[in-house]
Order: sequence, then structure tokens, then C-alpha cells
Amino acid sequence: MSKVWVFTEEPKAALHVLSPAINTASKFGEKPALMVPSGKELDGIADRGWSKIIALKGLNDGASFEYASAVATLMKKEEPKIVIVPGTKLGKEVAAFIAALSGAAYAPEALDIMLDGEVIKYARSILGGGVIATYKAKAPFLVATYQLYQYPPPEGGHTIPEVTEIEVSVERSKVSRVEVRPLEKSGVDLRKADRIIAVGRGLAKREDLAVIEELAGLLKAEVGCSRILTEDYKWLPSERQVGLTGVIVSPRLYVAIGISGQIQHVIGFNKSKIVVAINKDKNAPIHQYADYSIVDDLYKIVPALISYLKKTSSQ
Ligand code: FAD
Repeated sequence: MSKVWVFTEEPKAALHVLSPAINTASKFGEKPALMVPSGKELDGIADRGWSKIIALKGLNDGASFEYASAVATLMKKEEPKIVIVPGTKLGKEVAAFIAALSGAAYAPEALDIMLDGEVIKYARSILGGGVIATYKAKAPFLVATYQLYQYPPPEGGHTIPEVTEIEVSVERSKVSRVEVRPLEKSGVDLRKADRIIAVGRGLAKREDLAVIEELAGLLKAEVGCSRILTEDYKWLPSERQVGLTGVIVSPRLYVAIGISGQIQHVIGFNKSKIVVAINKDKNAPIHQYADYSIVDDLYKIVPALISYLKKTSSQ
């Protein structure tokens, strides 16, 4: 079998890593092999230039550990050099498990995989995207994830290889999926907003969001937030989160209220035209990124702004 495998539980996601997989496999003079749990729809996927397609039988749906166990078992037998997993949420879990179970080196969110003689190297961006680092794998094989939407897929129309069904003995997961439920979405797209009022942990209670929403309403702005309010407090839906793992925004006006200015948040707003920071700590990093800084309590400043805007709009 090929020295480069792609494993995915979502065949469509395989297209996101196909270009780097083909590129890496070509270094071995081969085409990559695709591995999926059996029963998956392969229309539009199977004809993209795979050397082989393996359908793994007998795995529980969504059981990341079982997927990984099956791939790791096959790795022992077939000895591929590189296993690439598209960076879906589940894929990231599967890749880490495969690396742990097989003893492979692990390259999360790789940008490129290189061969230096027998040594496998990979590049990934670090420090919030400002630096590209090259790593050397200390194991003879590597498991890598790639972020989705990084590389466009190559055209289809290649000969479709036969799909081989394989059943391997796997270690069963210690967890099972109980429920799958679509996320509630507010429908807002902050990437299109002209003005954003973003709020962070400085807000003491959920009810106080009302005052932020009032200010946003008066300024015809959208409400954004730091990760604390989405992931930790669950006060706002994830599409309102600005930053590395949220959305990257570029409004004309970005007002950061009670936000400290950690780099993962700053990456999300630093293309904004005018940045205003309201933070009571004069040493908070957010002030370094602000065009205008107010070093004071948001509970004093926000109501004052609201009353000023109300007064001026009624004049
Ligand atoms: P804090 O850092 O706790 O800051 C709160 C600020 O409020 C303080 O500066 C304080 O002085 C001020 N304050 C408190 N009370 C008041 C008051 N009454 N008036 C005025 N100011 C007040 N974060 C994101 O936001 N977006 C991301 O996409 C993101 N991705 C991440 C990805 C990774 C891999 C990691 C590790 C972290 C990520 N984070 C992200 C988290 C990030 O590192 C910070 O933890 C987070 O941004 C901090 O949020 P905050 O500024 O609201 O809270």
C-alpha cells in the first residue's frame, strides 16, 4: 500500500487535504491511499486520484478512538510513512489518538510535509500565525492534520480504485456518543459588520449584556465578544466570538470593553480601522492596540456613553 494515507470520517473533508497528500505521496513516487469507515458516501471523492480506497468495517459511528485504533493496527502491518487527517473537530481527536497508539510523531495543523533523506520534517505556523516553524519528526512515521479550506482540491475524473473492505480488531472507546444536535446560530456575520462593540470578562453578569446591546443599538453596531463569553460563560453564541478560534473582523470601528487584549483575541480585530479600548487596568495589553483608550470602569463609561448618545441623537 501507499506510504501516504488519508484517514477521514467525513469523506468530503478528504478533499481539503488531497492536494498536500498528493504532493507528499509524489515524494515517494506514489499516490495517496484513502481510508474511511465503511458505509460512507464516496460520490465525488473516489475519482480524485487515490491509489487505493479502504473502508474500515465494524466501527461505531463517531467513535474517534475506535477509528484511531483501526488505523494504528493497520499501520503496524502496512508501515505507511505518513497519515494525514483533515482537521475536522473529530479528525483532530482521531489524529492525536492515532499518533499516541502508533508511536508516530504528531504534526497538528501542518502547512507542509518535507522529506530530508529518511527524516520527515513538517512546517506549521506558531505564535498566532506570525511565524512558520519547521520541525523534525523523531519517529520514522508521522501523523498530521491540516486545517480545512487551506488548499483547493484537484479536479476529479481519475480512475476510481476498487473499494476494499477491511475489518480489523480494535480497542473499543471508553465513551460513546449520546446525542448529535445542531448548534443554535444567531445568524450574525461579524465579518460584514461596519461597527462592533465587543465585550469580555470585565462584564460582571449576564444581565449586563443588556447595557452593551443598548450601546451597540445606538451606534448601529453588532455585538462581539472574547472567548470567555462564548466558551466559558456560554452567554453568547460562537459566531459572536472574535479571534483566533472565532471570526477575523475588519470593521471601521471596534470597541473592546472589559477585554484584556490577549493575542488570540487581538488577531481577530487588528485589521479594524479605529480601535477603542475601555479597560480599568492601565496596564492591560489592549491599550497598546487602541487608537483611543479609556482607562476606567466600564460600568461608569458605558452608561455615560449611552446617555450622551441618547442626548445627542434627540437634539
Ligand atoms: P480577561 O483576560 O480576563 O480580561 C478581562 C479584562 O477586563 C481585564 O483586562 C480587566 O482589567 C478588565 N475589566 C474587569 N472589570 C472591568 C471593569 N469593570 N471595567 C473595565 N474593565 C474591566 N480569546 C478570544 O477572545 N478569541 C479567540 O478566538 C481565542 N482563541 C483562543 C485560542 C487558543 C488556542 C487559546 C489558548 C486561547 C484563545 N482565546 C481566545 C483566549 C484568550 O487567550 C484569552 O483568554 C481571552 O481572550 C481573554 O478574554 P477577556 O479579555 O475577556 O478576559
